Amino acid sequence: MFARLPARNRRFFQTIKPSLVTFRGKAANREFVIELPQLYTDWSLMIAHFPASAAAIRALLPPDSGLEPVTVAPGIGLVTLGAFDYRKPQTLAPYKEVGVMFPVRYRPLLPLPAVPLFRPEWFTDLGFYIWQLPVTTEEACDAGVELWNFPKSLGKIDFTEVDNRRRCTWSAKEPDGEVKRVLTLEVRKSTTTLQLRNYLAYSVIDDRLQQTLVQTFGEYDESRFGFDASFALGEHSIAVQMRRLGMVDTPVGRLYSPQAEGILPGPSAVPFASVPAVLRTPRAMKGRPLPRSERVAILGGGVAGLSAAHELAERGFDVTVFEAKALGGKARSFGVPDTGRRPLPAEHGFRFFPGFYKHLPHTMARIPCGPGRTAADNLVATTRLTVELVDDAKLIFPTRLPVSLADVGSLVASASLLQQRTGCNAEEVAHYLEKVWTLLTSCNERRMEEYENKSWWDFIDAEGSRPQYQQLANTTRALVAADPKNSSTRTVGNILLQMLFDLATPGVSVDRVLNGPTNEVWIDPWVVYLKKLGVEFKTGELQRIDLDRDGRVSGVVVDGETVRAQYYVAAVPVERMAVIVKQSDLDKVDPALKNVIELSRDVETMAGIQFYFEEPLPLEGGHLLHLDSEWALTSLAQAQFWTRDLAAYGNGKIRDILSVDISDFHARGNRGRGKSAEDSTREEIEIETWRQLRESVPVLKTMDYKIASLDPAIGDKPGPGRNAEPLLVNTKGHWHLRPQATTGIPNLFLASDYVQTYTDLATMEGANEAARRAVNGILAASRSSAPLCATWDQHEPVILSPWRWIDRNRYRIGLPWNSDFPILLQGLELGLTVLDSVARAVGLGASETPDGTIPPEVQAAVGDLIEALIDDLRRGDPAAVRRHFAPHALVTIGLDQGGLKDFLPELQGKLDVTVKAVPRRYQLGGRVHVVLTIRVGELHAQASEFVEGHVHVVLVPSQTTDKSRPPRASWTISSLRYREAGAPARREVPLDVRRALARRT
Ligand SMILES: Cc1cc2nc3c(=O)[nH]c(=O)nc-3n(C[C@H](O)[C@H](O)[C@H](O)COP(=O)(O)OP(=O)(O)OC[C@H]3O[C@@H](n4cnc5c(N)ncnc54)[C@H](O)[C@@H]3O)c2cc1C
Repeated sequence: MFARLPARNRRFFQTIKPSLVTFRGKAANREFVIELPQLYTDWSLMIAHFPASAAAIRALLPPDSGLEPVTVAPGIGLVTLGAFDYRKPQTLAPYKEVGVMFPVRYRPLLPLPAVPLFRPEWFTDLGFYIWQLPVTTEEACDAGVELWNFPKSLGKIDFTEVDNRRRCTWSAKEPDGEVKRVLTLEVRKSTTTLQLRNYLAYSVIDDRLQQTLVQTFGEYDESRFGFDASFALGEHSIAVQMRRLGMVDTPVGRLYSPQAEGILPGPSAVPFASVPAVLRTPRAMKGRPLPRSERVAILGGGVAGLSAAHELAERGFDVTVFEAKALGGKARSFGVPDTGRRPLPAEHGFRFFPGFYKHLPHTMARIPCGPGRTAADNLVATTRLTVELVDDAKLIFPTRLPVSLADVGSLVASASLLQQRTGCNAEEVAHYLEKVWTLLTSCNERRMEEYENKSWWDFIDAEGSRPQYQQLANTTRALVAADPKNSSTRTVGNILLQMLFDLATPGVSVDRVLNGPTNEVWIDPWVVYLKKLGVEFKTGELQRIDLDRDGRVSGVVVDGETVRAQYYVAAVPVERMAVIVKQSDLDKVDPALKNVIELSRDVETMAGIQFYFEEPLPLEGGHLLHLDSEWALTSLAQAQFWTRDLAAYGNGKIRDILSVDISDFHARGNRGRGKSAEDSTREEIEIETWRQLRESVPVLKTMDYKIASLDPAIGDKPGPGRNAEPLLVNTKGHWHLRPQATTGIPNLFLASDYVQTYTDLATMEGANEAARRAVNGILAASRSSAPLCATWDQHEPVILSPWRWIDRNRYRIGLPWNSDFPILLQGLELGLTVLDSVARAVGLGASETPDGTIPPEVQAAVGDLIEALIDDLRRGDPAAVRRHFAPHALVTIGLDQGGLKDFLPELQGKLDVTVKAVPRRYQLGGRVHVVLTIRVGELHAQASEFVEGHVHVVLVPSQTTDKSRPPRASWTISSLRYREAGAPARREVPLDVRRALARRT
């Protein structure tokens, strides 16, 4: 999943000449010879800063050393917890390390609070004073003590991957020999970028303060105030001491690096007269003049390939693009064969440039297109988005912030019509809007960890609801060819939100289109410009990527010939890349690339078809979403936006073109009685598409087209696999399969719409951003001084920050998103929860008890949960049980105290399930929370096979959206989480278990 660095990056270490140092170690009681600086060719690290008492920290700093704790606010200092896995030190055996450190400054003239945290580069004296530094080998322990006087000790340090987090547990021996846990640190894993980062460590040798500057280069991601890290202290006496620091488990910053290289020199006395030579940034890292001689081969000439060529050529690289078919890829336009000297223009599919696109317009604005113009000037804003519904109903939305009475009128009319025309009842419309509100106000963590794995269909509760409501879910098909039952809520939601934000931004249009055929107004001028920049274009198909013994690309085979360059950008689509990965065994060097093969199974057909008319189409404003059509059609009448005269094409008689995208190739046409597009011949597709269009837009019934042009990528032979150029759709849980632009193969980079990007959708924007990331990878690998390509995250309105902040707090303590409104109520509930936690922490006992009896549905829910456990036990798989309940975890279930088997007779004689305690029972809002400690095990089994845990089930009375059905008392499990003893973060119980529970309730 994460990009890997070369096993040893020679350039980073280039100017370092280590020398041998001999020392005698006390722990091992023998002599060692190691290199200094010690070069680490492969390590990983995670670091998090937690607020703590500045006074308590100061008391642990060496007296009169001049070191002062960095504060975030008066009286509040920071404790930094770090965990390091040194997998390949140069002359030491691999070891692991944990650091308990204090960010400090040396005799600060102006001890500014908080600023060092945000702008560390401003403070040359900013470093860490290390208080505890356990390691796993005697050799590393001895080296640290003897050479730096670091407070090293021996400990047991383990790293585990838990969902999307990395956990480090440190245990150590007490003086009496008993091993106890000191600390567990967890950090969220995330997408990283190549960075150079230095750390300063302070230590004291012979009463003199020493400074050690550790330089690193690797994959990093930093976040602040993100709840991206947490810790739990154990029972060890060091943990007892740490408790006195008053650390708050709310990180103010976290740094994560899955792979880096590092240079650890010996210490130098403080203050330095100047930075010692060995510590200077290696020359290669400072950047070089533009590397004209660096050759880059770009394989694939779609939007991604051309974007990469653009960025590289502007930075002085020597670029050759190899394209198998036609430049522009899926975004290209072409001429309809046999339609004249200047053939009629056709599109692979119409081009839609939403207002939230930032990367692509940034590139287009640098493509000259006639005197004083750029390709970006060829984008025109539409004014309306029309949703065509059954029975001649339509909704017309303005695609910009309403700026005219007509816009306001159409917005007001559409809002009330949404209910009337969709056939949804008021409750359904309200429910849908609440879901949109949920998305708007959910924190990023919830979006990434919860919504990424939830389908849009499930998120908006479409299952079991009326077809009218389900129709709303189907917009994902028309927009991104995504099946709402499979598409990720995070992706669909993000796109929806970005469009809503565009609508709310004055001057921005949700929808923009080109003012002429795509190739004429964009792709062709682009290629001309790139050629001027020196880019060479060659026709050729990438067949194989060859690797040398060091795991680098030695050459690529294009049309049977080997092509060599310093760097290679694979800009071919995912289904093609999957074949290359397989054939070239790329996953043997970078296992993460195997995911590309899995990802490639999720491609779908979305295809364009154009209808040509000899009269202007009476369809104005912008895109039409034919929600009533079986094949999820969207269309655009093009002539209204074009600046060129259509009479110049074909036989000169054509006046308008209806450009249509077919997004569902599996649904049956002709109101469910006909064939799917996949099973139809090309001619049948044309006829049925026209029928659906006419049914959707009655005005078309009075018109007839002269000629039609279906995307040539759709093969003649009906059936699956006939589309030569499919499109990747964002299926739930996809994010983790998508590779990064930098790979574990040091000179191979990926650029195409399937790469992990902020855009997170297979679009031209995603392809462009991926290309920028690939180029940034090349800039880092070549140590170029050229500026990095800009990338932009998606827009989040600041005004919603308080809501998202509250949700982040709720998410962190295991609560679901809260629909209660207004915000004050949410704050109150959160406050109550926090108060409750504080009360428990200081021993004030449990909070209120819910009244009433436990509903039978809840008991049944527990039954299902237990049944899942029985199944696992029957399979003789205690490990699987631990997947549901980790050993010694706590359980929260909406259930009164008692033996579960009392009301679950099926458990009699099979399972021993005991409720050991009910530490908490309370009701918040409409939700029931009861904390249970249960012990589950097979009867007559050995004690070790028993598991104990806390599981958090939040139950809410379920709302039925269907008014036609009588209301019934039922409960929905909105969240089910368990918490391992001592583990800081709560985990979601596997989806299938939750589903089983939901079915039972
Ligand atoms: C019908 C349709 C409508 C769409 N509408 C929109 C829209 O409105 N807005 C939007 O943003 N996105 C839209 N998209 C998505 C968008 O077109 C793509 O996501 C984007 O063009 C992908 O660009 P790419 O460079 O990553 O891949 P591609 O466009 O697939 O380009 C890859 C290139 O590599 C070439 N190639 C393949 N194999 C090899 C090989 N072995 N050797 C050398 N070259 C090779 C191909 O010929 C191709 O030119 C649409 C897609 C479709 C199918």
